[in-house]
Amino acid sequence: MKILVLNCGSSSLKYQLIDMEDESVLAKGLCERIGIEGSKLTHKVPGKDDFELETAMPDHAKAVQLVFDALTDKEHGVIASVDEIGAIGHRVLHGGPKLTESCIVDEHVKKVIRDCFDLGPLHNPANLTGIEACEKVVPGKKNVAVFDTTFGMSLPEKAYYYAIPTEYYEKYGIRRYGFHGTSHTFVSHETIKFGHLDPEKAKVIVCHLGNGASISASIGGKGVDTSMGLTPLEGLIMGTRSGDVDAAVVQFICNHEHKTVDEVLNILNKKSGVLGMSGVSSDFRDVEKAAEEGNHMAEVALDAFRYRVAKYIGAYAAAMNGVDAIAFTAGVGENDKKTRKLIVEQYLGYLGAKIDDKRNDVRGKEALISSDDSKVKLFLIPTNEELAIARDTLRLVEA
Ligand code: ADP
Repeated sequence: MKILVLNCGSSSLKYQLIDMEDESVLAKGLCERIGIEGSKLTHKVPGKDDFELETAMPDHAKAVQLVFDALTDKEHGVIASVDEIGAIGHRVLHGGPKLTESCIVDEHVKKVIRDCFDLGPLHNPANLTGIEACEKVVPGKKNVAVFDTTFGMSLPEKAYYYAIPTEYYEKYGIRRYGFHGTSHTFVSHETIKFGHLDPEKAKVIVCHLGNGASISASIGGKGVDTSMGLTPLEGLIMGTRSGDVDAAVVQFICNHEHKTVDEVLNILNKKSGVLGMSGVSSDFRDVEKAAEEGNHMAEVALDAFRYRVAKYIGAYAAAMNGVDAIAFTAGVGENDKKTRKLIVEQYLGYLGAKIDDKRNDVRGKEALISSDDSKVKLFLIPTNEELAIARDTLRLVEA
């Protein structure tokens, strides 16, 4: 079966068509600037030149139509007709406390996604728009919603409750949900498979270090704790997000800079992290270059980033009373051997974790990067959220 995976943002739409026979990517692409002037579709097929189309996309339905047109085009297409697509898997940010697992979309599921607009104001409306666009363009095709919050739904109460009055959980569902859930589930399972670990008992910490960054603890692939919270703001220092801060910082900046809470939250989400600390960039490559050239705050930002990761690893090793494997993934985790090496060598000696420089000299493929005498196995495991969504979609439509 061929599965189309869609990831809709407010003005963008990423897609991949995956052949589930061998899990190969038949085509992938991106629609940019939906609803804005200058909309563009970029369609990539392995072994062929990229196809680019600049044409008006007033809404997501038009973008979805163009994706189906590109997939079935005589020249750039990879399928003869949309009938070849078995189902569509949608990345959805927030399922709230009600939708705890991936599910086939029906009216109830759409209502819950809509009810969660408050919890995922930037993503959930776009995700629902993508689903409704598919219902319009290819009526009758099964749509599956795969939630970023699913991994966090197996957390125990002690990990997901915030220590605030319980009425706010009861009234509004305020709790830790965690994000990048599809990645944490995928990478923890791949780590167990690749590392031949105990599928029931393996204690795994996954460090998803990208522009957005989060870290999780799982036992046998089941979430025990995760660093993002009610929103993706909590936890690690990220490209532009602060991660953990004392909530009183918000009040202080509001009072002294005459800003609203929303404005300060925007600063914490979009102007903080390594960008805010270094003043250089949210891109780790730029910050690393600046640090090498002697920019002190760029060095401090990277140091703080690694320190925060190490603190969470310590916390999660304690939460699980041990750790068998630590996996690095996402843009920084998969490509930046220096960051991996420094995290392990500066902070994880007490766990008996030892990195092997030769094995660590690797990018973007599954690899063991610890030495043979390391007490904790260290891995590089590339994440693949699209494949995880496609696998879940296939499982549900075949059930
Ligand atoms: P997201 O999906 O959250 O947007 P990614 O997982 O794609 O982010 O990661 C993007 C980040 O990965 C960028 O900050 C980029 O600088 C970083 N990155 C990519 N390659 C390297 C590298 N070779 N060294 C350091 N950082 C890298």
